[in-house]
Amino acid sequence: MKKHNFSAGPCILPKDVLLKASEAVMDLNGSGLSLIEISHRSKDFVAIMERARTLVLELLQLEGKGYQVLFLQGGASMQFLMVAYNLLETKAGYLNTGTWSDKAIKEAKLFGEVVEVGSSKDENFNYIPKGYAVPSGLDFLHLTSNNTIYGTQFKKFPTTDAPLVCDMSSDIFSRVLDFSKFDLIYAGAQKNMGPAGTTLVVIKEEILGKVSRKIPSMLDYQVHINKESMFNTPPVFAVYTSMLTLEWLKNLGGIAAIEELNEKKAQLLYSEIDLNPVFEGYANKNDRSIMNATFNLAEEGLKETFDTMLKEAGINGLNGHRSVGGYRASMYNALSLESVGVLVDVMSEMERKA
Ligand SMILES: *Cc1c(COP(=O)(O)O)cnc(C)c1O
Repeated sequence: MKKHNFSAGPCILPKDVLLKASEAVMDLNGSGLSLIEISHRSKDFVAIMERARTLVLELLQLEGKGYQVLFLQGGASMQFLMVAYNLLETKAGYLNTGTWSDKAIKEAKLFGEVVEVGSSKDENFNYIPKGYAVPSGLDFLHLTSNNTIYGTQFKKFPTTDAPLVCDMSSDIFSRVLDFSKFDLIYAGAQKNMGPAGTTLVVIKEEILGKVSRKIPSMLDYQVHINKESMFNTPPVFAVYTSMLTLEWLKNLGGIAAIEELNEKKAQLLYSEIDLNPVFEGYANKNDRSIMNATFNLAEEGLKETFDTMLKEAGINGLNGHRSVGGYRASMYNALSLESVGVLVDVMSEMERKA
């Protein structure tokens, strides 16, 4: 049976990418050697790393603007502390939009003062804070563009004279933004780019070198920039597979093309959530994410029926995060409109049954 994968992360990747990645594990470019058994300093792999970095700048339209691209390890969670280690001298601002920003705040507090500029904690993070004033004199302002767990997403970004740092783990490459507004973007690969194991960091080099503390080499962005992401052995499989996904996206027409599809998928699902009395949306309508849609059953008693129907339709990964409950449909780039259609059919079938 065909599976429809709505998993929040790790999550669906294009079939074509999986096929090419598995071929390369057996034989890279007809070399007779596996991608994962050759030197990362070999000509073949150096070309892969370079291609991946070029594709990132090209897709984000950041070429020639002073940005560097890194493929690091330790996940987005490592970036929570690395950002502060490298950029926080006295005081940083954070927007608290849920678990992930909360974790980022916790790490930053180890290095300096943290001002919580805005928060939606009072409503269990079902909206994006607005109307807050960003103080001046911050070393940087940090936000999480898409809140994977709650299904909320920034549609407009704050203006500040401080460097803007953004955790884009779950919506990078999904919608057109002026990426040059950000001074540092990071994203764990496993939500919209590739397998777990590498973290993308796109950084404007000029914001570095301003803190007085000593930084351990592995946590120092400048060290990784100087070594072109090869300070130590990079996660070769994760980088290669990410490169394939970026190539797939480019061939599709880039971010603008995928955004159009992502909007269609989100519209299809949200209109079902809004019109079907069996379901209730979780996130505030104005702040709803086009990547992760959160919703609940109006009556808990229908759960068993709905879960059985989902299973029979081949729908995978629809359980909500434990801190929100209910359901969450993650509609990352590689998920087809057809899969969302299958989910919507099950939901309307529920309405007939209820
Ligand atoms: C999943 C996720 C993380 C955590 O990523 P890891 O790579 O597991 O550390 C951080 N931020 C956001 C927005 C996420 O969705």
